[in-house]
Amino acid sequence: MPIETELFKSLLDNFYDGVYFVDSERRITYWNQGAERITGFTAGEAVGTLCSDNLLMHVDGAGTCLCHAGCPLAATISDGDRHEAEVFLHHKQGHRVPVLVRAAPIRDTDGAIVGAIEVFSDNSTKMAALQRANELERIAFLDPLTGLANRAYTEITLRGRLDELVRYGWPFGILFIDVDHFKQVNDTHGHDAGDQALSIVADSLRGGARSFDVVGRWGGEEFVAVLVNLSERKLRAIAERFRVLVETSRLPVADGAVRITVSIGGTLADPRDSVDELVKRADTLMYRSKETGRNRVTVGNRD
Ligand code: GH3
Ligand code: MG
Ligand code: MG
Repeated sequence: MPIETELFKSLLDNFYDGVYFVDSERRITYWNQGAERITGFTAGEAVGTLCSDNLLMHVDGAGTCLCHAGCPLAATISDGDRHEAEVFLHHKQGHRVPVLVRAAPIRDTDGAIVGAIEVFSDNSTKMAALQRANELERIAFLDPLTGLANRAYTEITLRGRLDELVRYGWPFGILFIDVDHFKQVNDTHGHDAGDQALSIVADSLRGGARSFDVVGRWGGEEFVAVLVNLSERKLRAIAERFRVLVETSRLPVADGAVRITVSIGGTLADPRDSVDELVKRADTLMYRSKETGRNRVTVGNRD
């Protein structure tokens, strides 16, 4: 072996990250010690196998196997570009290891692609930090009782939607939703039953919302829904759907089931509105629903 080749091989062998080479069929031709450390497979076990042969079997975060579609090595061999992906590889002991993989082409002296090199590093620390950040975000913006967005998140959403309305003219509306005679539920059936009633209302609202709407708990037994891209007619229809979904749900209690209803106020946002003005208008309309008998919807707009 020429001295330079030996030097490079020894460098790669001792490289901390995992490094392996494949030929154009993705058969593994080289496997370093870093790859042994991260995957548990020795060079003897890996070299000569196809990398899709039950060995590494990269999957993405959704569990989709990348061997036949989405493999960074295959992409590099076919287009000659570098590719990078965060994937989970299969460890010899069976578990999955999060890794950042980077693939680059290997060319012969004429420039033809004859294979690829993949470098992969253990991504566990980064993944742990990301998961922690996601968890913190979840805690900061989620209402623990109902699992809906909390008031802070709902206010941020409202501010964002108002900006979009002013800048781009994208319409949206809000619903202010208040549980009827909720104090009575607490007084009659206890605070825990009251909490359960709030969860039932939240589930009904979540079920009635579209995937791009935000329903948040505003406080106590009050909820605010932020509904995008809609007319007054559609706003009224969604409010009515929420009302009916709650009305037809039941809170199971010791001696039967309690019917829960909500009063709703709905309004389209106006470019002149602040968050406070918009919410106040919906709240006032909700009170009109209370005054006119509860379990109803009142929709109105800014003069
Ligand atoms: P209305 O139909 O006029 O809205 O009457 P209401 O009884 O619903 O209104 P009121 O504002 O008098 O009472 C709201 C009650 O909600 C009082 C409060 O104790 C209760 N509440 C607020 N937050 C919670 C909670 O997280 N859990 C439970 N169980 N009760 C709560
Ligand atoms: Mg209230
Ligand atoms: Mg109430």
